[in-house]
Amino acid sequence: MDKINNNNLLAKIRDVPDFPKPGIMFKDITTLIRDKEAFAAAIDLFYQAFKDKKIDYVAAIESRGYIFGAPLAYKLGAGLVIIRKPGKLPAETIREDYALEYGTDALEIHKDAVEVGKKVLVVDDLLATGGTAAAACRLLQKCGAEVSCCAFCLELSSLPGRQNMPEGVNVWSALSC
Ligand code: AMP
Repeated sequence: MDKINNNNLLAKIRDVPDFPKPGIMFKDITTLIRDKEAFAAAIDLFYQAFKDKKIDYVAAIESRGYIFGAPLAYKLGAGLVIIRKPGKLPAETIREDYALEYGTDALEIHKDAVEVGKKVLVVDDLLATGGTAAAACRLLQKCGAEVSCCAFCLELSSLPGRQNMPEGVNVWSALSC
């Protein structure tokens, strides 16, 4: 078995043209996570980057953010906070709307999900324009959390996602293309 490095990890992500609509090249991580060595290597890259950062909570974005966020929270010894699409969380929520290429979308978090001053790492599978992660950061900041960084399995470096994060929020990605 070949040793997993960043290049062959990237090659595990399947490109699906024209999904979910014409012109979009969908980066399909199911082909990475079904490979046990690749999945473990991806989680280890996240873990090595954040193991000394004293993260209190990993905040994972629905739904593919959960795939990376949950094992990372476990490895870091941090709590797991979930950020969801509207109408899914059962208790009192706060909401943040954000712009898409066409129209808007929104995310919600439980109002009491994070205590004031806690250090939070936002996790999602992929950084494209940054709108989704920026909305997640704003939600956490409304809760009084300190959002230290947003972390992704894959960053699309042709898009300005990094520049669209709120001021003071860093970006880290395991892989980029
Ligand atoms: P954005 O808000 O533009 O940074 O988009 C990031 C969110 O949309 C993430 O939750 C991704 O799962 C999803 N996403 C956006 N573009 C793609 C793509 N090309 N392939 C796979 N997922 C994508």
